[in-house]
Amino acid sequence: LPGDLFQPIRENSSGVILESSVQRQTLRDKIQSFEHHQWHAYSLINGDKHPVPDPVMTCSPYDLTQITGQLHPAGEDQVREAYSVTRAGFLHWNNQTVTERATVIKRFARLIEQHKEELIALCIREAGKSLKDAIGEIREAVDFCYYYAAQATKNLTEQLMPSVTGEQNILSYEGRGIFICISPWNFPLAIWCGQIVAALLAGNSVISKPASSTSLIAFRATELLFEAGLPQDALALLPGNSQDIGHLLTSDFRLAGIAFTGSTQAATEISRQLTQREGAPIVPFIAETGGQNAMIVDSTALPEQVIRDVIESAFNSAGQRCSALRVLYLQEDTADQIEAMLIGAINTLKVGNPGQLDTDIGPVINNHALQALHGHIEHSRALGRLIYEAPLSEEHDAGYFVAPTLIRLHTIDELSDEHFGPILHIIRYQADNLDRILEEINRTGYGLTLGIHSRNNTTIEYISKQARVGNIYINRNQIGAIVSSQPFGGMGLSGTGPKAGGPNYLTSFVLEKTCSTNT
Ligand code: GLU
Repeated sequence: LPGDLFQPIRENSSGVILESSVQRQTLRDKIQSFEHHQWHAYSLINGDKHPVPDPVMTCSPYDLTQITGQLHPAGEDQVREAYSVTRAGFLHWNNQTVTERATVIKRFARLIEQHKEELIALCIREAGKSLKDAIGEIREAVDFCYYYAAQATKNLTEQLMPSVTGEQNILSYEGRGIFICISPWNFPLAIWCGQIVAALLAGNSVISKPASSTSLIAFRATELLFEAGLPQDALALLPGNSQDIGHLLTSDFRLAGIAFTGSTQAATEISRQLTQREGAPIVPFIAETGGQNAMIVDSTALPEQVIRDVIESAFNSAGQRCSALRVLYLQEDTADQIEAMLIGAINTLKVGNPGQLDTDIGPVINNHALQALHGHIEHSRALGRLIYEAPLSEEHDAGYFVAPTLIRLHTIDELSDEHFGPILHIIRYQADNLDRILEEINRTGYGLTLGIHSRNNTTIEYISKQARVGNIYINRNQIGAIVSSQPFGGMGLSGTGPKAGGPNYLTSFVLEKTCSTNT
């Protein structure tokens, strides 16, 4: 391994300071060197690549003429092989000490930093992430590695338990077996790392099924994890479509747990499949899903701050975060003013090539998403509910661009689906209807994020107490939970917990063993 991998351990990602012209220029030059690069993604089992005769050509969501590489999707044979390899891999990996496992993960974090320009280029070109979001991906991925490594080293070591009978009692932790990690395209590096690193640190082997839209990033990250010293039988990568391999993946009796991030519908389907495995062990299912996230703005809120935070919450990452603001509740008394200011702010947003620093909104991920979002906008237009749709130009036809859009609703019940894009719904409410809107928000059954803008502490406390959500953000934006300080995850239809980036996350990945010795 290169010597600099053994530098003192940094406990956080070093990040990139975009205000520094030197750092900005260096980053830009290095990213540019990957402008025409093409990557590959194969099934990777025991370190072996599995090419297929007819790979899928992949292209950038912001420019469909830009080829990013080739995807060789996994088939059922690869699923079977992945199970037998990672079963053997589990037995060795689980026998390593937690300190040894953490050493590999910390080396991996340093490799991510060393290859950050390539990974940022991949996040931009394959996932259509904006430059700032792509830098955030690196930071979050690295932070997950260090944080979970520190948690594992501190909490997953043997403990001597109290003895009341004179016996010696030891509580120890070990991996559960093969964990399936199913990761999303909207955080193709950060969430991919978070799930896998947690499972590996706990002693599990892993079969990774990344979102097919971002298989190239997952493949490159897997290569780096092996370069960091992970045994090749401890992780198998199966890129491709869930329709082709999903059922086989979740029906195998050797499966010891699933970590999933994605849509509520997909989580429900996996959960149903798990319950149909008659006679199979009951396994943990850690699901982080969607939300109908609201923000409540009362008449005491500071309008300028509201506008900034609403714009970030609803339109950063083209609204493609499960935490993103979907429904803005405006108290009637100030609603006209806030709406007018919001339209003004939306008009200053630049929609376009995500690789440019001044771009605010990049593309949505694929044509399916584009059509669904357009369908919703057209339906709202036909109902006379469109408040504002920012203009797009012909150049936006090159990719999957959706204009930032405002839509009027009367109640949140009118939304049956999560509209995963740059569309913000607005509902007006009267001050004496606060209880009704809180009841309405809780009634959706989702419970991920909630924003509150108010300068009245009693209102803030009251709303916070009533809301059944996992993450509440007060007088700020409601996205971008920070690993270790803002544990992230929802309730109800939004997820099972435990929260990602929090102190309890690793506990779902381990088995506990008590050993009592008559001394
Ligand atoms: N953790 C991210 C945030 O706080 C959202 C994760 C997701 O979209 O799945 O914005």
